[in-house]
Amino acid sequence: MSLRIVVTVKYVPDATGDRHFADDLTVDRDDVDGLLSELDEYAVEQALQIAEDADDAEVTVLTVGPEDAKDALRKALSMGADKAIHVEDDDLHGTDAIGTSLVLAKAIEKAGYDLVISGMASTDGTMGVVPALVAERLGVPQVTLLSEVSVEDGTVKGRRDGDAASEQLEAQLPAIVSVTDQSGEARYPSFKGIMAAKKKPVESWDLSDLDIEAEEVGLDGAFTKVEAANERPARTAGTIVKDEGEGGKQLAEFLAGQKFI
Ligand SMILES: Cc1cc2nc3c(=O)[nH]c(=O)nc-3n(C[C@H](O)[C@H](O)[C@H](O)COP(=O)(O)OP(=O)(O)OC[C@H]3O[C@@H](n4cnc5c(N)ncnc54)[C@H](O)[C@@H]3O)c2cc1C
Repeated sequence: MSLRIVVTVKYVPDATGDRHFADDLTVDRDDVDGLLSELDEYAVEQALQIAEDADDAEVTVLTVGPEDAKDALRKALSMGADKAIHVEDDDLHGTDAIGTSLVLAKAIEKAGYDLVISGMASTDGTMGVVPALVAERLGVPQVTLLSEVSVEDGTVKGRRDGDAASEQLEAQLPAIVSVTDQSGEARYPSFKGIMAAKKKPVESWDLSDLDIEAEEVGLDGAFTKVEAANERPARTAGTIVKDEGEGGKQLAEFLAGQKFI
């Protein structure tokens, strides 16, 4: 039977661009270019390697995000994923991590899966909690933060590297894993892959397709609330200490004034 792998991929604002908050203190996603979260490229790569090693496997990439999030799906398809699912709904605006995990879990169940692969964290929210939340909702084991992962005889195995030790972990499928940026360089899409991606199926689902009520997600359904946010102040010119015999003293005074020493 085919091994069904679902990879959760997030469309994130480009970190190199100027990012702002909208009036409701959510991230202004209209005003900035986005891309597939770089950390999710590692998840796609591991899914493709597992699929290549399996006799029969299918890789589906799944995102919850606005219209432009299709760009993230296209990138993953051009890397080699077989098909994509885009969950998009105006009522998702302001959804927090708990709401996102609800939508992902319902979509994963609807898609059908043996193995879910996520990134270690998104490059915008960087909470690193979604895979655990999804595992809890699906009622399956979670094996997180793997720097090596493989599937054999219905079991997913992997290595988690900590500061002091490395652990070998395994779980029976169905399961969810997250992989780190140490799991192996993600491949670049080839020209052939980019052309092939244009013809691969992308399904679009909204909340009603997943039997989710609007109140369960969005700002109203969020358990977390942003109370205030301030733009980072513009950089000011630094203080230059010229050494004319008293440089060391001036430097020490400056550092003491800033409470660094
Ligand atoms: C349109 C929209 C508006 C949002 N507005 C807000 C808001 O106002 N306030 C707020 O707190 N949150 C909002 N969110 C949710 C937020 O962007 C995060 O998706 C969510 O909080 C998860 O946190 P994180 O990014 O830190 O995930 P992490 O836990 O760091 O992510 C770990 C992994 O989970 C997977 N993952 C995470 N998010 C997604 C996703 N959306 N689609 C697919 N896979 C995913 C990826 O594999 C990722 O590598 C919004 C989301 C959407 C789609």
